[in-house]
Amino acid sequence: DGAQVAGYILDKRIGKGSYATVWRGRAESSDEAVAVKVISRQTVTETGQLRSEVEVLRRISHPNIVRFRDLKKSASHFYLVLEYCAGGDLSRFLKERGRVAEDPAGRLLAQIACGLCALHRENVLHRDLKPQNILLCDSSDAPALKIADFGFARGLQPQDMAATVCGSPLYMAPEILRHEPYDAKADLWSVGAILYELLMGRPPFSGANPMQLLANIEKQDPRNSPLSVPRARGQCAPCAASLSLRPHCP
Ligand code: ADP
Ligand code: MG
Repeated sequence: DGAQVAGYILDKRIGKGSYATVWRGRAESSDEAVAVKVISRQTVTETGQLRSEVEVLRRISHPNIVRFRDLKKSASHFYLVLEYCAGGDLSRFLKERGRVAEDPAGRLLAQIACGLCALHRENVLHRDLKPQNILLCDSSDAPALKIADFGFARGLQPQDMAATVCGSPLYMAPEILRHEPYDAKADLWSVGAILYELLMGRPPFSGANPMQLLANIEKQDPRNSPLSVPRARGQCAPCAASLSLRPHCP
């Protein structure tokens, strides 16, 4: 089933996404905790999604971007070894705790913004920002956050406009859903949708079915918009210093 990789001991399945299964494990050499994203060769080709994910992770080192450690391959699977984020993902956090107050929401927002800023500085669009793809370092009330899952990320040339639909419609910008060219602002829309959910406890748009959802994103104002939106705490340059974040999960 692919749950074996040289140099690491996998002990528990901790996640499942659209194209991978994620295990918690540890490095045999150092005993450090790791997360191993197991991807079947039947799901991705080495030159497509996998290469883009690995390239982005290798290129960008930032406290709010999940850290890449290793890439292993077997005849049947690829294994992306990442830093382990013990707090799970933001979707679970929201399910367990419900919405958060403005102050903590602002601190979470600042971290998402800093990670995204580091990506956009490198001309990379994430294209699938959603609570499931934002990881928490620990289970505290004020966790450090890491943007993860670069399976859909792609490089953006300065004059180039991406025009592929991918990602989750709940958090997706209307221009993407309309199959129009889009740029880094599409990721910001997703950040807005995530902030809304942090404050309100549910995503800004809903629909009885996918078609209805798309129509509502296009036409409606978000339901019961929060009266005030918190300012992100901290400044972006240099992000890490102003927020005094650790370089990776402890
Ligand atoms: P997919 O590309 O299939 O969506 P993800 O990279 O989003 O895969 O991982 C799926 C889930 O596994 C995430 O939503 C999260 O709950 C968990 N996960 C992924 N990476 C880590 C990690 N480094 N530490 C802890 N949990 C993780
Ligand atoms: Mg995912």
